[in-house]
Amino acid sequence: MTKNVRKKKSPGGRLLVHKAKRKTRNSHCRICGTVVQTNTLKDSKSGRHADRPYGGEICHACLRTTIQALDL
Ligand SMILES: [Zn+2]
Repeated sequence: MTKNVRKKKSPGGRLLVHKAKRKTRNSHCRICGTVVQTNTLKDSKSGRHADRPYGGEICHACLRTTIQALDL
């Protein structure tokens, strides 16, 4: 993995390292690949994804079908 680091010379002659901010990426469902609903503005980890089993990893539709398939 490449680091987003750039070396810049300051006007005073010092060599500075500028680190670029990492881009955030929406989490996707492990089964169907759709974007899972998340709120990236919340600070706490529990506030960022749905509060259910596999919340933030599997979408609600896939979770429902897998649970229904296991009950049969
Ligand atoms: Zn899904």
